[in-house]
Amino acid sequence: MVGLTGGIGSGKSAVAARLAALGAVVIDADRIAREVVAPGSEGLGEIVAAFGDGVVGPDGALDRAALGGLVFADEAARRRLEAITHPRVRARTAELAAAAAPDAVVVNDVPLLVEVGLAPTYHLVVVVQTAVAVRLARLARDRGMSRAEAERRIAAQADDARRDAAADVVLRNDATLDELHVQVDGLWRDRLLPYEENVRLRRA
Ligand code: ATP
Repeated sequence: MVGLTGGIGSGKSAVAARLAALGAVVIDADRIAREVVAPGSEGLGEIVAAFGDGVVGPDGALDRAALGGLVFADEAARRRLEAITHPRVRARTAELAAAAAPDAVVVNDVPLLVEVGLAPTYHLVVVVQTAVAVRLARLARDRGMSRAEAERRIAAQADDARRDAAADVVLRNDATLDELHVQVDGLWRDRLLPYEENVRLRRA
């Protein structure tokens, strides 16, 4: 399994979409993290049991702001929350990976891969690096995110040097999408497709 990561607004989704178009099976950690606490889920039930009814909105959905307020400055509370969510995310990820074809290249898009210390669990770690100024401009343009909010989120994540240190492959995304695609296609051709072919040959 390939781990794909990068800071907020670096272009992980753009890389994941290109890899999916080339034939990879992409597993999106953010999406799974939402699924495991969806209204009516066992995960949400455990969160309510641990943190109280105040973390659920009138619509029955998790109130992320309320929960965030409880765990933000409380390390023990954050660990309690992660003890509920992380095993569920891991189990669902493993389930989806197991459902992929045996020779498939499986790419796990995980925003906090480096922060959570997951790099050693992947065969290959791909990091998308984009200058902070470019990320701020894209987040403002495409998501209407204020500069202050984007800077706050960037400061809460690992910095580029830490992500670089965990990377087997670095993709730069400061320029056009075409230029990003050229790099992703090269990664696919040189590092990922040979893997897929090897597995197929070994199984033949
Ligand atoms: P997040 O961590 O928030 O999930 P991400 O790393 O997945 O972000 P993307 O959503 O892929 O980042 O990219 C952020 C924004 O920048 C998107 O709106 C995307 O369309 C845009 N974008 C990505 N790469 C480029 C590029 N090379 N040129 C122009 N816009 C880009």
